[in-house]
Amino acid sequence: SAKRHGRNHDRRFRPSLEVAGDRQLAMVNDLRRALAQGDQLELYYQTQHRLKDGDMVGLEALLRWRHPELGMVSPGDFIPLAERHGLMTALGNWVIERAVAQLASWYAGGMPRVPIWVNISALQLIQGDLEARLATALARHRMPARMLGLELTESVLLDERAGDISPRLEALRAKGHPIAIDDFGTGYSSMAYLKRLPIDKLKLDRAFIRALPEDVADAAIVSAVLAMAEGLGLEVVAEGVETQAQRDFLVAHGCPITQGFLFARPEPAEAIEARYLKAASSAALKSSSTT
Ligand code: C2E
Ligand code: MG
Ligand code: MG
Ligand code: MG
Repeated sequence: SAKRHGRNHDRRFRPSLEVAGDRQLAMVNDLRRALAQGDQLELYYQTQHRLKDGDMVGLEALLRWRHPELGMVSPGDFIPLAERHGLMTALGNWVIERAVAQLASWYAGGMPRVPIWVNISALQLIQGDLEARLATALARHRMPARMLGLELTESVLLDERAGDISPRLEALRAKGHPIAIDDFGTGYSSMAYLKRLPIDKLKLDRAFIRALPEDVADAAIVSAVLAMAEGLGLEVVAEGVETQAQRDFLVAHGCPITQGFLFARPEPAEAIEARYLKAASSAALKSSSTT
């Protein structure tokens, strides 16, 4: 911290861009330390719900960084930083290990047996030994690959550095991992890949959900995507559902799954547990008292 103080002292002599760059470097160093120590990083989980009956059918793992001075830093801020400074693979590996450990603990602990979905960055596909990492983590915790879903954005699919990723996706899917396209509709992609790539789900970006049901264009896009996905045999997860009116629109148009603040915010694992373990044990009590 004395070091950082020294840097601040120099600020007035530097062009502002460099100061910003300097602060970024400090953040990168902090992130490197956080990765080495591990205790500032945490996975939050957001539940996904089947619209038909409200059942929880999956959980997305969302990375959180509790910075000692800055407080909670958003993944939208530190993930791009990690990508630019060569930390993304290590960060991604940490996420995989933690998510699989959580899966195993929930599996043994009586939680509903639904998949955990992790976000995979392009760089994990390009630089990392992703397949091996996944396999090792799953083997260590004796979990099946079908319980660990992979979310990739359209930009990942189209990242030229990754080469033709379809054989790699085929391999991951052959192992059993379900695969989802995240933020669907926001990338500059053609729809040809929907035909070509092995995909199970589309996560419709919340940009299309936000103004439902009033916005005529968004309503048209969402209902068209739902119809298309059904024809292609893909499940749709509507992201960012916040209101009852949005939910009603999605129900009316046959959307199978939703994720959003209306149902639950991203929460620490213990908060999820408190809710679902209680529900499971009271259901068990009820069924044992009636038999
Ligand atoms: P994402 O994968 O699209 O995750 C969904 C984001 O939408 C989360 O933001 C979540 O908190 C937010 N969200 C969910 N429901 C609602 C809602 O009803 N309203 C609004 N306004 N927002 C909602 P979060 O946690 O800040 O994550 C942002 C992004 O950071 C993620 O977007 C993902 O791209 C990235 N990210 C998070 N964790 C990881 C990770 O472990 N690895 C990688 N590579 N990226 C991650
Ligand atoms: Mg995601
Ligand atoms: Mg998303
Ligand atoms: Mg997003």
